[in-house]
Amino acid sequence: SNAHLFPDKVALRDSVGSYTYGNLFISAKELANTITQKVDGKTNQRVMFLCSHDADYVVTLWAIWMSGQIAVPLSPQHPKNILLYYANDTNASLLITTSQYVDLMQRVAKNTNTKLHVLDDKLKLTTAAKVATKKSDLEAPLSLSFYSANNALILYTSGTTGNPKGVVLTHKNIVFQVNTLLEAWKWTPNDVILHTLPLHHVHGIVNALLCPLYMGAKTIMLPKFDANAVWSHLLGVSPQQGDRRISVYMAVPTIYTKLIEEYKRVFSSDPKMVEHIRNILKNKVRLMVSGSAPLPVPVYQQWFEISGHKLLERYGMTETGMSLSNLYDSDREPGFVGLPLPGVSVRLVDENSKSSALEMTNSGGEISCQMDNKLVVSGEVKGELLVKSDGVFREYYNRPEATKKEFSQDGWFKTGDVSLFSISKNKFKILGRKSSDIIKSGGYKLSAIEIETALLGHPDIKDCVVVGVEDKEWGQRVAAVVVLRENKTLTLEDLRSWGGEKLAKYALPSVLEIVNEIPKNAMGKVNKKQLVDAVFRK
Ligand code: ATP
Ligand code: MG
Repeated sequence: SNAHLFPDKVALRDSVGSYTYGNLFISAKELANTITQKVDGKTNQRVMFLCSHDADYVVTLWAIWMSGQIAVPLSPQHPKNILLYYANDTNASLLITTSQYVDLMQRVAKNTNTKLHVLDDKLKLTTAAKVATKKSDLEAPLSLSFYSANNALILYTSGTTGNPKGVVLTHKNIVFQVNTLLEAWKWTPNDVILHTLPLHHVHGIVNALLCPLYMGAKTIMLPKFDANAVWSHLLGVSPQQGDRRISVYMAVPTIYTKLIEEYKRVFSSDPKMVEHIRNILKNKVRLMVSGSAPLPVPVYQQWFEISGHKLLERYGMTETGMSLSNLYDSDREPGFVGLPLPGVSVRLVDENSKSSALEMTNSGGEISCQMDNKLVVSGEVKGELLVKSDGVFREYYNRPEATKKEFSQDGWFKTGDVSLFSISKNKFKILGRKSSDIIKSGGYKLSAIEIETALLGHPDIKDCVVVGVEDKEWGQRVAAVVVLRENKTLTLEDLRSWGGEKLAKYALPSVLEIVNEIPKNAMGKVNKKQLVDAVFRK
């Protein structure tokens, strides 16, 4: 961290109070000593921690790093069997938690024969009061060379397509990922971010927490996402004295959907409020980001109408950090995720020829691109997306075969996502996962994401997922699993005649299933294989 550069600046505010960089640093250093004792002076041990979203989390994460261990963050949303899976999978040496989760974590500790350390309930209060008295109080316990060579974090993938995999990120990976975002999204020390994301995932940790901490900006952390609380904070209804307004907000698409619903429920009938909200968001918030899952075009458009903000959509993975992003300064386009971030190279590999159809590198501002003209079809190039950068992870923890399988011979990471590059727009678009989003029907390859985006424009459709279901005649059929708005009905015929103007005939669903709810994981994502099993093989 850079805490020694701005020890007196406020780094974080939670429901208990505000903490300067110095406060957090000194508390973390004390906890680091405790950790070192508990792991008998070793380094590179896996330390799993489950903390609520507040100063305890930051102090614990920093302490794990300061003592030279590898942090494995857990989420309060994880059920016990997942926690056990993580503890066994990482062979953790130590668990850290707060009194809030002590019962649960005691069971995990017992089941896995791991030591448990429970943080002092007063940690937040004492942290807020810490003051550096000597220069050495703000010096890191381990040398920079330790950090440049070692692992920092094991993050589990969202588990959307199967068992979550432990992604090992080095300190170098993280510093790269942070620096590329600081540059691309123009972070400044004056920024104030409202943090409402899960803290066990790259989005909430790297993009929304480590970036502001590294920059010396301020993070306002809510215990969890709550649409009403987010609106209050964005509008500054209850800012604490001396607080600057929120300037940055980051979320997943389902969060923006919930904010839009809350807006419609509470504000939209009051013209004064509508204008007020637009003014504040447009003029005071400088950056609103969406990612982790495809942002439906209707959500982008509705958010623009409410706030005057064109959401900046970016694409990334636990394994790579952020790879593609719309540009900060130039025009954004719904459905597109922009260009490679600084220091990132991407490649599109043609499915048939298995050769590189396009390769693009952003070497810090300068973008270079090579294309195989034979593979350009109507101004577009398609293929599986591969990524190379210093942000790309080292390995899947204890899964050497899986690691090997996901890298090409020449060291590119295979994302498993299919992407398209539009030459005229000069932007990439994510068509979806090779495994579950590309529907092969009657000789066509269809993107489930594009069909979902079209269907979400239907006034009676609240949520929807498109999948391919096996079919003797067509290979696969396009099936829509739909949640309707209250008191609405919809038949397949209605849907097909409505969709006729928006989608090609062969992309229109030929199967419709109405459900009450679509199950989603902590990042708001759907396991399509499970959904197909639950809905179509019941
Ligand atoms: P698992 O690997 O365990 O199945 P996961 O792939 O969902 O889970 P993450 O690493 O959290 O785990 O998510 C990365 C994936 O999220 C990408 O591979 C991509 O499919 C999807 N994704 C992220 N951002 C976007 C985006 N802007 N548009 C479309 N898809 C996105
Ligand atoms: Mg994945």
